[in-house]
Amino acid sequence: GDSVPVLSEGGPTLIIGSTGFIGRFVAEACLDSGLPTYLLVRPSQNSSCKAATIKILQDKGAIVIHGCIEDQKLMETILKEYKIEVVISTVGGNGISDQLILVKAIKAVGTIKRFLPSEFGHDIDRADPVEPGLAVYNEKRRVRRAVEEARIPYTYICCNSIAAWPYHDNIHPADLHPPLDEFLIYGDGTVKAYFVAGSDIGKFTVKAMNDVRTLNKTVHFRPPSNLFSMNELASLWEKRIGRTLPRLIMTENDLLTAAKELPIPESIVASFTHDIFIKGCQISYSLDMPFDAEVCSLYPETTFQSVEQCFNEVVRKILDAT
Ligand code: NDP
Repeated sequence: GDSVPVLSEGGPTLIIGSTGFIGRFVAEACLDSGLPTYLLVRPSQNSSCKAATIKILQDKGAIVIHGCIEDQKLMETILKEYKIEVVISTVGGNGISDQLILVKAIKAVGTIKRFLPSEFGHDIDRADPVEPGLAVYNEKRRVRRAVEEARIPYTYICCNSIAAWPYHDNIHPADLHPPLDEFLIYGDGTVKAYFVAGSDIGKFTVKAMNDVRTLNKTVHFRPPSNLFSMNELASLWEKRIGRTLPRLIMTENDLLTAAKELPIPESIVASFTHDIFIKGCQISYSLDMPFDAEVCSLYPETTFQSVEQCFNEVVRKILDAT
């Protein structure tokens, strides 16, 4: 039954990449849950915007450790010295393959109870996007295999799409508001995807990382209430702003061309957009493998923020800015 206590206490947690887009949500949720939260921050590249993010997290109780994951010896020292039990990585770009060194450090130390590598998207062993997205998946697959070979306890978070208008050429669409002039609809606009609020990505990741039921599992975020096609998402936004907008079609070929011709990282986003909204990579398989877990069945008592609520927040931000 659901009344069985499943959440362990949770110990010192190290977050790598907290100044990033996904990492910030995870760090906030970790601090909100009251866990001792350490942030690995790269010493060199400090923009004022990143410094502000770190300050906000420190004010909430986070402890900053300087370092980067390419330094295996330093990572081993940090993991031991701070008695880290859970490591969450939300590194992006080149950081994905640098995690291979982090995996070596975690293995050498041998006391990490759970590692969450930087996933936070689709099930990379099941989805098969065109290039250049495929190259990113191949890097993430290599990290999964290294984790499994090293017998490190893990959880893979597959949270699907962030709740935002899915611009095909922007890596962080939640930083932008949905269109106010016209919609670009991918294909016939009927293929569905899961749109999850950033704060919920953080919240459910932190629940899952200390849960015995998610040990060595892939955790899928499939809230039925957040499953929408592009056409439905456009209608929700139209309802929110109180007017209709023209809908232009971006065909499968247009998306494939964007994946070929845009620079990286926009081209990577275009290849994922094609995989989601043309090929249906989020909904084309059922969760029937022994290593699959789904957040709504794990935490039936916790609700997801609706896309309508996310859109309300967006409108509030637009109004605040004017
Ligand atoms: P960002 O580029 O926004 O942030 C990456 C973070 O990792 C930064 O804090 C960066 O630090 C840190 N970092 C990178 N390399 C290293 C290193 N070698 N050592 C220590 N820290 C490092 O990444 P995103 O948030 O965009 O991506 C994170 C993950 O989430 C990726 O796996 C990505 O695929 C996925 N994602 C999923 C989305 C979705 O809709 N589901 C949307 C976006 C991303 P610094 O500040 O020093 O650069």
